[in-house]
Amino acid sequence: MSIQTISLAPISEKGGGSALITNKDYQNKGLFVQTYGCQMNEYDSQKIGELLQQSHGLNLVDDTESAEVAIVNTCSVREKAQEKVFTLLGRWKKWKEKKAGRIICVGGCVASQEGELIRRRAPFVDIVFGPQTLHRLPQLLEQTIKGKQSHLKIPLSMDISFPEVEKFDRLPIPVANGVSAFVSIMEGCSKYCSFCVVPYTRGEEFSRPYLSVMEEVRELSRQGVREVTLLGQNVNAYIAEFEDGSPCDFSTLLTEVATIEHIDRLRFTTSHPMEMTNDIIQCFQSIPQLANQLHLPVQSGSDSILNRMKRGYTALEYKNIIRRLREIKPDIHLSSDFIVGFPGETEEDFMQTYRLVEEVKFSRSFSFIYSARPGTPASALPDDVPLETKKQRLYRLQELLAQQTEEIENQLVGTTQAVLIERLSRKSDNQVAGRADNNVVVNFSADTDLIGQFVEVKITERLTNSFRGVLL
Ligand code: SF4
Repeated sequence: MSIQTISLAPISEKGGGSALITNKDYQNKGLFVQTYGCQMNEYDSQKIGELLQQSHGLNLVDDTESAEVAIVNTCSVREKAQEKVFTLLGRWKKWKEKKAGRIICVGGCVASQEGELIRRRAPFVDIVFGPQTLHRLPQLLEQTIKGKQSHLKIPLSMDISFPEVEKFDRLPIPVANGVSAFVSIMEGCSKYCSFCVVPYTRGEEFSRPYLSVMEEVRELSRQGVREVTLLGQNVNAYIAEFEDGSPCDFSTLLTEVATIEHIDRLRFTTSHPMEMTNDIIQCFQSIPQLANQLHLPVQSGSDSILNRMKRGYTALEYKNIIRRLREIKPDIHLSSDFIVGFPGETEEDFMQTYRLVEEVKFSRSFSFIYSARPGTPASALPDDVPLETKKQRLYRLQELLAQQTEEIENQLVGTTQAVLIERLSRKSDNQVAGRADNNVVVNFSADTDLIGQFVEVKITERLTNSFRGVLL
């Protein structure tokens, strides 16, 4: 089997070349999409579903058995996530062998970084595409289907290039899937933190044009969306232009999106502390729709580790950002990411992280043991912290983080929160569930007609990952 890296002809229709292709043979057949990784990948998976629905009439299904096309949208940020993909592909090989015409596609960051490896380890895969070329999936699929139908020796179709301008131009018209939606505003990252693969798998930072963002949010609003989360690897780096050529940075974009009718709550993720400008901090004061919550990854509390991670800020600078935010929003819910056991991390370096957590106090966080990702600068450093030490440090840090989560969340019991009702509750048939301003999930009894409405709810009990409340 050979690899084919194809360069497809440009598609002229804005809103997706997807409508161009109507291969009847796959009309109404099932499409299964397995997503690993971050919210960017979840967003991309949703777009994949919309694209292939429009291009080939494929319908999203919940399992591979009822599918004709199976796609895994991968993540390579952690080593385990990458291995998971190959384990999954092993299972899908058997699935494919059971019925002629089945198609396997691999997208996302592992595809982008490890196209050759996929060819070697999983030669039964039909299509490999990167995060920046998912909009070309209809053509890649069409080519594969035609190859199967003509019984030619079918080459693996691979397109993992970075045609940055195209992707945003050719996404399908969004289809709201509830009252809350993600909107991607930029792609890639140019920060090149020494441990991270994202700049190599998703490319350099590229901001979506201002009008394209506004069009998507307006369309979602027309479809009943009330809450929007602006997405990007580093949304703070957003920079585009207004029609008259004047610059539109992230704080300006936030202000503009907040003017769209019926969008009553705004969130954004992920932010980089280095670009958490005063203008963005001030948005928490000037934009009432901006939620009382921020995810701001710090990674470490040690300046020497931060320097080796190439994060571009010191622990003091990070704490200063938090101080200024809390002057505006004293009860803002903060979450963060931490890596323990980075090369050269001493006990004192770790304790500086521990003390930063004690000082800042986070509501929710994500913490991981460092593992070298191939091709990153940090992978050339000696991975010299023993695994047992890494595990112990992670355990100590996670205990502290869990204790803080409990303390902060217990304080919510008895308070009244504005909750956007999103759906039926998974806890009980007779209840609905929604999110409060600070992003916690609340379950309570209410008429299902209220789904899509903001209501006042008194929090009565803290559960493991959510809360119970009473509609006021
Ligand atoms: S800011 Fe650093 S960690 Fe985040 S995506 Fe960019 S390179 Fe990776």
